[in-house]
Amino acid sequence: MSRRDLFDAIVVGAGVVGAATALAFARDGLKVALVEARAPTPWRADAPDLRVYAFAPDNAAFLDDLGVWAGVAASRLQAYRAMRIWDAAGGAPLEFDADAFARRELGWIVENALLVDRLWAALPAAGVALHCPDRVAGLEQDEASAGLLLESGLRLRARLVLAADGGESQLRAMAGIDTVTRDHGQSGLVAFVDHARPHDQTCWQRFLPTGPLAFLPFAGEGGHRSSIVWTLPEREAIRLRDTDEAAFLVELDRAFDGPLGPMQAVSKRVAFPLKRQLADSCMAGRVALLGDAAHVVHPLAGQGVNLGLRDVSALRATVRDASRRGADVGAPARLERWARTRRSENAMAAHAFDGLNLLFSNDALLPTLLRGPAMGLLGRVSPVTHALWRRAAGI
Ligand SMILES: Cc1cc2nc3c(=O)[nH]c(=O)nc-3n(C[C@H](O)[C@H](O)[C@H](O)COP(=O)(O)OP(=O)(O)OC[C@H]3O[C@@H](n4cnc5c(N)ncnc54)[C@H](O)[C@@H]3O)c2cc1C
Repeated sequence: MSRRDLFDAIVVGAGVVGAATALAFARDGLKVALVEARAPTPWRADAPDLRVYAFAPDNAAFLDDLGVWAGVAASRLQAYRAMRIWDAAGGAPLEFDADAFARRELGWIVENALLVDRLWAALPAAGVALHCPDRVAGLEQDEASAGLLLESGLRLRARLVLAADGGESQLRAMAGIDTVTRDHGQSGLVAFVDHARPHDQTCWQRFLPTGPLAFLPFAGEGGHRSSIVWTLPEREAIRLRDTDEAAFLVELDRAFDGPLGPMQAVSKRVAFPLKRQLADSCMAGRVALLGDAAHVVHPLAGQGVNLGLRDVSALRATVRDASRRGADVGAPARLERWARTRRSENAMAAHAFDGLNLLFSNDALLPTLLRGPAMGLLGRVSPVTHALWRRAAGI
């Protein structure tokens, strides 16, 4: 194989994480191929995507550097300035306020489909070779490179292969990397609702013994629309997904306890199974795992896609450094430090979110008595709230 046929990097999976990776590497002058099984449905303003993210400032800066954030902001973006978290069993709330951090906002609520759409729009001009629809059928590695066989019969080779093909990553299995999975026995029920009182650019989260219920402020409708993410035992999630609208709203109102006033459902409801999953390693030879392929975390802290993009930013720094020196960008020895650091940060986050979920999705006496005062105390110790927020915000 001549050098012309050899890519610097092949990215498999073009969700937010994979598409951002391909774009970042191509912008840095690398020769990049991107393989995706399904072309995304183009984003439409009149069909909001039910999967929305609480997007952190460091990742907004990353997408800004890639030249796509302005396009997202011009389409639909809701800044949030406050977070209010409280326990249904009582006690003081934990509150975060942009003013206390001298910021205009704490982060943004943005749709997955819009991010994917704007990232994909930037790929051709950056020179990314897109193979879609196609899937990986085989992987082999030697000392100098890794080769992929695609289902179309095409063969591609690269110095570095990146698995960004989601939680069920086939490429991760082909690379021989195992995962440790904990099934939460819960699902996340998502929907859009309109409410009588404005959301006030606030993310609300109420912890119930069955799991947290979050209201994320959504752009438009004069501040009267939110996206809900309601963690529930699996069967409850399915029951509430399938029940009629009036019954759903009665239960939602009871669970949220009224801060936003009477509500009206404005979308279908979808339930996603929730689990914690961590890959044993973030790399095997010249294959590196990114995003959900490496870690699936509980959505209660809104960190899933944020952790994934931090994998990419950190890897970009490592690869850039090698590329500037004309060195092999996929040399396993070069990736090891990145892989160790990301594995440990992601594992820490995944276990912390799990711990919170267990502590709060619980009506045993002791945790119930302890968590309200503990949260109130946290709320009053401002260096702690500052540190918590800075960690979540990636700054
Ligand atoms: C209910 C819920 C709420 C959430 N809320 C938040 C939140 O508020 N904030 C947050 O940060 N995160 C949130 N998340 C998590 C977030 O959705 C994921 O972390 C994020 O989608 C991961 O992005 P990814 O690009 O790694 O994977 P994915 O989005 O899963 O993308 C993987 C891509 O790979 C493609 N693919 C799969 N297999 C192959 C193959 N064999 N060959 C080629 N292509 C393939 C797929 O088609 C897809 O395009 C939430 C998740 C759930 C379930």
